Amino acid sequence: MWTYLGQNFLTDTKIRHYLGDKIKKIYDESWCTVLIEIGPGKWSLTKLIHEISPDFFVIERDNNLIAEGKLKVEWLENVRVIHADVLDVDVDAELKNRWQEANKTLVVGNLPYYITSPILRKFFGEGKQDYVGGVFMVQKEVADKLCTDVQKKSYLWWIVNFGYDVIYLKTVPAKAFSPAPKVTSALIELKRKDVPLSIDFTRFLSFLEDFAPYSRKTLGAIATMLKKKQNKEWLIPETLRGKRLEELGWWDVWEILR
Ligand code: SAM
Repeated sequence: MWTYLGQNFLTDTKIRHYLGDKIKKIYDESWCTVLIEIGPGKWSLTKLIHEISPDFFVIERDNNLIAEGKLKVEWLENVRVIHADVLDVDVDAELKNRWQEANKTLVVGNLPYYITSPILRKFFGEGKQDYVGGVFMVQKEVADKLCTDVQKKSYLWWIVNFGYDVIYLKTVPAKAFSPAPKVTSALIELKRKDVPLSIDFTRFLSFLEDFAPYSRKTLGAIATMLKKKQNKEWLIPETLRGKRLEELGWWDVWEILR
């Protein structure tokens, strides 16, 4: 079923508690000082997590839900509510205003599925490892494609997994929401890599931009074509020329870009 702003509210209390407990555990174990929730909706997850952090704020685009909450939810007056499109919010400036930093910040939410990719890219796909990590409800199909150990890697996989490991936590059936979405969902955790990759992200992005559009061809064939058509030179080691982009591991990427 199509919903306004991806509003499928999580009504299954067991899953809500599982999610709330997970967020608290990760927040505490990672020594976070800030918690951000994207899309609190009807405040049902917010109710479970708003006391985890003394510095908690939420970003919600739908003013009706905010107004409704203000009428019905007494503890909401203690929560900083940013009424905006999450993609437009300058989160770094918001953190600076609070004398806080991204590297102590955990980002969570039952995401609006129509903008899952841009949200993940905004917080975790820039090659920096600023944020501690995140816990998110996403479409199962997206979760399956993002997890660290997948065989075939998409563009989003590469840029998110550059700085973060993506861990599949739990499958969530459509009936856990109201209204029920058309798709099955899943919970994922994004965990900052313990040791950052020693690969330059800008150079990696330009490699991806050149090679990802031809993901069915081998690296050798793409390199030859790029040289011929655009006079662009990528030195692909002989052992990797027969591989496709999606088959590479980080070690292979390092070898190409070093
Ligand atoms: N957290 C609630 C829950 O678990 O039931 C609601 C989750 S619902 C899937 C997604 C929420 O994101 C909705 O409240 C929706 O209004 C909000 N939302 C949609 N687009 C948004 C955007 N661009 N920026 C911020 N919030 C957005």
